[in-house]
Amino acid sequence: MLPSSYEYWKDLRQDRTAYKKKKDQIAHTVVELLNQRFPDISQQVEMVDVATPLTFERYTGNWKGSFEGWLLTPQNSFTVMKRMSQTLPGLKNFYMCGQWVEPGGGLPTSVMSASRLIKAICKQDGKKFRTKIY
Ligand SMILES: Cc1cc2nc3c(=O)[nH]c(=O)nc-3n(C[C@H](O)[C@H](O)[C@H](O)COP(=O)(O)OP(=O)(O)OC[C@H]3O[C@@H](n4cnc5c(N)ncnc54)[C@H](O)[C@@H]3O)c2cc1C
Repeated sequence: MLPSSYEYWKDLRQDRTAYKKKKDQIAHTVVELLNQRFPDISQQVEMVDVATPLTFERYTGNWKGSFEGWLLTPQNSFTVMKRMSQTLPGLKNFYMCGQWVEPGGGLPTSVMSASRLIKAICKQDGKKFRTKIY
């Protein structure tokens, strides 16, 4: 995985040929670099697929192809790591869980987000929160 700019790819995508050429170039560079570490690995590559932020956007519908929600940086980590609200002001009986309200993103974090939400709803309804292992 390589950090990349959504805007860069979005602009490049205006020209399909240039977009594809850049993806091919990246694939080639990565395989060449791997080859330096693992000699002859390039001979064993059978298939290459390069996904850009636009690919993730197309498949997942996520904002700018953000595959794990918020990007944590030294500048925002203090604010973002604070618990985010799972409700919206003025909207009753509406709840959110997942990578956009549980910074860090990823599958385990999203499941924890759902668990946190259900706990809160149980508390609100005066019910005991119970879990079951299947
Ligand atoms: C290529 C890729 C690889 C990844 N690899 C890993 C990994 O190895 N480990 C890991 O932990 N995480 C990984 N992730 C991240 C992980 O998949 C996400 O962080 C996680 O799925 C987020 O869960 P979520 O429930 O917040 O959102 P999502 O899983 O995106 O679920 C949102 C759902 O809402 C639906 N939806 C959207 N809009 C509407 C609407 N208007 N009405 C009804 N439904 C709607 C969508 O169809 C979707 O089913 C990866 C992500 C990508 C893209």
